[in-house]
Amino acid sequence: MRIAHVVPDTDAEGPGRRFALWTQGCSLRCKGCCNPELFGPGGTERSVDDLLAEITSTPGIEGVSLLGGEPTEQSDLLALCAGVQAAGLTVMLYSGHLRETIEARHPGLLDHVDLLVDGPFDVHQRDDSRRWIGSRNQRLHVLSSAYTHDDPRFATAQTVEIRFDADGLVVNGWPDLARKVAR
Ligand code: SF4
Repeated sequence: MRIAHVVPDTDAEGPGRRFALWTQGCSLRCKGCCNPELFGPGGTERSVDDLLAEITSTPGIEGVSLLGGEPTEQSDLLALCAGVQAAGLTVMLYSGHLRETIEARHPGLLDHVDLLVDGPFDVHQRDDSRRWIGSRNQRLHVLSSAYTHDDPRFATAQTVEIRFDADGLVVNGWPDLARKVAR
């Protein structure tokens, strides 16, 4: 898989403490996307086994969030999601494609996803009211019994996290807040 970057333990990219992973490459190129640097080539090639080893050695996380870039453009995404669930962790997937398109193009993938945020980001329908969702056209699908729509964590305020790692300052979380912090 082409990986742009990872944050191994974050509270800002889905419910609970999560391993967040940004894939490199997105052909959708939504106007106003917060990650245009992830549209084209780049990133680092990493195997599913290598990623799973890092994920499963991270203590205290409840799951993995897959962001992009467009994660469904990675051919081995299903293997990664299945491996995460087999390790007893949950999968939250962000995709610019609709659920129906993902089901048609990637049979079986959503069997290994617990939460799906689907649809392209629409800059004209910005949505600050729903945590972890960027625009009103995007939908949150609860695909397993691991979560419910009335989970109170979906109603809490947007957050950002700031940390220093080997690459320097890393800011992740709600894009509008993250941009202000990074200025
Ligand atoms: S699908 Fe996601 S990563 Fe791709 S352009 Fe749209 S918002 Fe950006």
